[in-house]
Amino acid sequence: MVEVDTETCIGCGTCTVVCGEVFELGSDGKARVKDDADLNAPCIEEAAQSCPTGSIKI
Ligand code: SF4
Repeated sequence: MVEVDTETCIGCGTCTVVCGEVFELGSDGKARVKDDADLNAPCIEEAAQSCPTGSIKI
């Protein structure tokens, strides 16, 4: 289970660079998990650690 807290996400896009196969920026400017994302992708952990606001919950 992977979630983005859109209340705290600032839309910096870091997670989409670190783990573009899982995260994308939505039309609201916030990150979200792609519909077809592989939730076992190793880069998810790295993205969570890279998020400046700690908005990615695993
Ligand atoms: Fe939002 Fe964090 Fe992703 Fe930046 S790295 S877009 S703050 S979830």
